[in-house]
Amino acid sequence: MQEVEYESSGVPLEGYELTRRDHRQQKRLESIDRPTARQVAEERARERADPEIARRKYEAFKQAWELMQRFKKPDHEIMRWRVRLYCGHITETRRHREVATPTTHGPYSMVCPECGKDRSLIVAYEPIGLVAEPPPLPPDATAPPPPQPKKPTRAQLERRVAALEEENERLRSQGAVGTHDL
Ligand SMILES: [Zn+2]
Repeated sequence: MQEVEYESSGVPLEGYELTRRDHRQQKRLESIDRPTARQVAEERARERADPEIARRKYEAFKQAWELMQRFKKPDHEIMRWRVRLYCGHITETRRHREVATPTTHGPYSMVCPECGKDRSLIVAYEPIGLVAEPPPLPPDATAPPPPQPKKPTRAQLERRVAALEEENERLRSQGAVGTHDL
């Protein structure tokens, strides 16, 4: 996996001043059509009236959820970012570790968990760190295995025993000589 130089923007986040570009982008964000509260209420009413719609919607949701679980990235591939939102709140978000800024890929805005502003532009950010440390690299599979000490053969063992006995004998006779000298 390649190394990524994580970038910061608008730090320190606490002192960030909104720019004209921020205002313009936020305005564009808010002009994007989204269902109004009335449309959502109507949709809900239709679902209640027709259990088949509700069931299909539930199935679609379940499938999407299962798909997401299957492709869920392990924690060491997820980068945590401290972000300042257009509304002024500072919060945290996550991105895949291979993106250098939280606004390169994925949404450059989010629902503010503090004030509920939906959507609030990410105006400044700084990297925090990976959710989890990467696991240690597996040992190099191409490297030769460390040499195993060879098991001595029976003949080698017998020779070793014979040599030890001989040595023992020699020491004993020297010892005998030694006592005579005293
Ligand atoms: Zn907010």
